[in-house]
Amino acid sequence: MSLNHNGNGIYRCRRCDRPLFSAYAKFEAGFDWPTFWDVIDSGSIKLADNKVFCNQCSAFLGTVYDDGPPEKTGKRYLINTLSLIYKNGKSQK
Ligand SMILES: [Zn+2]
Repeated sequence: MSLNHNGNGIYRCRRCDRPLFSAYAKFEAGFDWPTFWDVIDSGSIKLADNKVFCNQCSAFLGTVYDDGPPEKTGKRYLINTLSLIYKNGKSQK
């Protein structure tokens, strides 16, 4: 299944289901992996150098760079497709 959605859905940690990224903050950066310029909640992730981990289950998510959109956060979170699961904003848990 493709992770290229443009709705209002939420990308969650595949391992623990924690909401991590919003489709709203997704942007096209020319990579196969999804890229985001912000996280839903900075408490959802933890950083070690430029590596991004889930703050709840410590799953490795991807890498963050400082060359994201300057009009947004300036951050570029490059996240492994396999670490995320996409849920449509309309679905109820
Ligand atoms: Zn997790």
